[in-house]
Amino acid sequence: MDQQELEAYFCSLDRSFFIDSDIKKCAALDRPLPIGFGQTISQPSLVREMTRLLAPEKDSKGLEIGTGSGFQTAILAKMSAKVFTVERIEELMEKAKKRLEALKFSNICFKVGDGSKGWPEYAPYDRIMVTAAARVVPDELVSQLAAGGRMVIPVGPPDLQELQLITKTDDGAIHTNTVEMVRFVELKGQYGWTE
Ligand code: SAM
Repeated sequence: MDQQELEAYFCSLDRSFFIDSDIKKCAALDRPLPIGFGQTISQPSLVREMTRLLAPEKDSKGLEIGTGSGFQTAILAKMSAKVFTVERIEELMEKAKKRLEALKFSNICFKVGDGSKGWPEYAPYDRIMVTAAARVVPDELVSQLAAGGRMVIPVGPPDLQELQLITKTDDGAIHTNTVEMVRFVELKGQYGWTE
């Protein structure tokens, strides 16, 4: 990943475009902000850090779980060949899709559904970004990660989670590094927290 390109795109992306009008004035704050349905757009510094850890490449096929506002999706799509993104709340997905289409992205596939199961039809993925807090790392996501791939995922109870970087070696061995403590909304679903 070209770090300078990430920085340049990150700075050029108007976060206020991804949030509703009543809180647009708060877009410049380095804080999570509400996007409706009890969900949040993550704080910019954390989006940047998670993207840096994921290290998408120009030829990467990525899977994102938790489309939310579409802000992180835009960054992944800019840095990757193709992005598959899954969101469980249809209304959020519809808004995110409209925004990303307005930005002229043509390398994103959208799905409304339970991302704790991944998106097996298009696996394996070189990169997997999970932007909601998993109870445990879903085996389904690990099995959909390509050899040589990287996954970034917050894991732990609702109040505080470990941000984990999971890598799969070319021979299929899994390595897990805890990077920092974070706080995300829950990953719901079959392999997440109960609805
Ligand atoms: N990355 C997003 C952004 O830039 O706006 C923020 C994501 S928000 C912190 C987490 C999102 O994960 C929410 O929109 C929530 O609905 C979604 N989510 C939670 N569980 C999910 C699941 N099982 N499948 C798909 N999306 C899920």
